[in-house]
Amino acid sequence: MNDGIHSGSREDAPAFLSHGRMPVAFIGHGSPENALGNNPFSNTWKRLGEMIPKPALILSISAHWVTQEGIAVTAIEHPRTIHDFYGFPDELYRIEYPAPGSLEGAKLVQNLVRSSSIGLDYEWGLDHGTWSVLRHMYPDADIPVIQLSLNYNQPLSLLYRIGKELNLLRTRGVLILGSGNLVHNLMMLNMRAKPYPWAVEFDDIVKTNLETRDYDSLINYTKYHISSLAHPTSEHYLPLICVIGAAGGDRPQFFNEMIFGGSVSMRSVVFGLDTKKQV
Ligand code: ZN
Repeated sequence: MNDGIHSGSREDAPAFLSHGRMPVAFIGHGSPENALGNNPFSNTWKRLGEMIPKPALILSISAHWVTQEGIAVTAIEHPRTIHDFYGFPDELYRIEYPAPGSLEGAKLVQNLVRSSSIGLDYEWGLDHGTWSVLRHMYPDADIPVIQLSLNYNQPLSLLYRIGKELNLLRTRGVLILGSGNLVHNLMMLNMRAKPYPWAVEFDDIVKTNLETRDYDSLINYTKYHISSLAHPTSEHYLPLICVIGAAGGDRPQFFNEMIFGGSVSMRSVVFGLDTKKQV
């Protein structure tokens, strides 16, 4: 499962001892307003946080951090809460998620990933793709959180390989969390619309490909003619590819299976959860 990982990297991070094997998850985060909670999505995020063993570190791959050159990991002691959205209620802009960062965790990621060089970033922080979910999963904000950026210019096969290389983190108590949406077309968002047929179809294609472990089709998702409707831009889909790399063929379990506003899939998936548990 941990093929391709540099064997010397085990000594690089003595703080993250083995806690057994952590699950890995992709969360459909949807509207920033889900950060406020009291909806079915946030209630499930909370429940998931209670089901998973408490992580030593969270590595978030959010749709909302896309770097222009290369890939970076946050290496900030006290990451700021980034309010990267416009036109939402004031109370959303007052939310802070004061989780610590982890320089040690960032260096561990940097050392584990061999297929691409990972830069250390000192400017980003936690964007709403990360904190809108984590404030429900871990309201105490007492677990260190680092973010890994995405890059449009890098092939999805590389993102998958990076995920595979990160798989080893799961044996060290690290929760790898992708945050995006499996269907995401904001131009078509309409709160009065029923789910568009193409949104239902693409969501279903992803679900089936996850169940059958057809990772090639997930990586080459643009072969589906409706992919450009489901994802006019790819950033909300990309975290899934890193997550399936880290999942290493583990059984997927779905939750929040719903299309929001006609064109945003809230479907989320966790891999490697205890088979007796149901989110
Ligand atoms: Zn988003």
